[in-house]
Amino acid sequence: MIEESRRMGDEPDNVKQEKLPLGSKDAESAGRDRTWTSKWADQYEQRRNVDEKLASIDGLDQLRELAEACDRCPLRNGCKQVVFGEGNPSAGLVFIGEAPGADEDRLGRPFVGRAGKLLNRMLKAADLQRSEVYITNVVKCRPPNNRTPKRQERARCMPYLRHQMRLISPSIIIALGAAATQSLIHPKARITRMRGSWQKWEGIPVMPMFHPAALLRDPGKKKPTWRDIQAVLKELERVDD
Ligand code: SF4
Repeated sequence: MIEESRRMGDEPDNVKQEKLPLGSKDAESAGRDRTWTSKWADQYEQRRNVDEKLASIDGLDQLRELAEACDRCPLRNGCKQVVFGEGNPSAGLVFIGEAPGADEDRLGRPFVGRAGKLLNRMLKAADLQRSEVYITNVVKCRPPNNRTPKRQERARCMPYLRHQMRLISPSIIIALGAAATQSLIHPKARITRMRGSWQKWEGIPVMPMFHPAALLRDPGKKKPTWRDIQAVLKELERVDD
């Protein structure tokens, strides 16, 4: 569990390294240290509780319930509801975006705004039904003003995504956009460079692709994205054989 926490870059590991206040420090500094240590100790405890709960979960509905009751990061305070994800629970292909936006937050479903409509058109062009794939996001709660979720928020939400993917066990993941790619592959990944190249996360092949919102802003990105989709379809066909 400690190893997993380190891999996620999740701070609670620091609890182990933090020294408790020494008698030689003045009271104010010792108080600050105690507050800091107790804050991370609480978070470590919370994380441990989530991991323990996750270990006993063997269905997506149960996992959804756990996520819906989650308040592990500040995003929950600013959103209307947790947007867990939807689609085929044993999909071969999973799309992972960054975070819910305003429409998703209102309806409780991923990719239902303008970008979602474009994703639907892309699926149709690829001869795929939305109901046969699975669609979710790295963070399940909408960040304020649709800002990019912070590293810490993504790390807090990662146990849900990781367990979600273990339960679905897809053949291929499409990481939509920079934040999803950075969360799954490398924190400094650049989507312009990494898109179209096969990566791996948790043993699952990942194809980083431009986010549909980026295609709406810059239609010039549609052509390379279509090439990436073709590569995914080819690989899906190969693994299905
Ligand atoms: S974004 Fe994820 S970790 Fe944060 S409160 Fe929502 S479900 Fe919990």
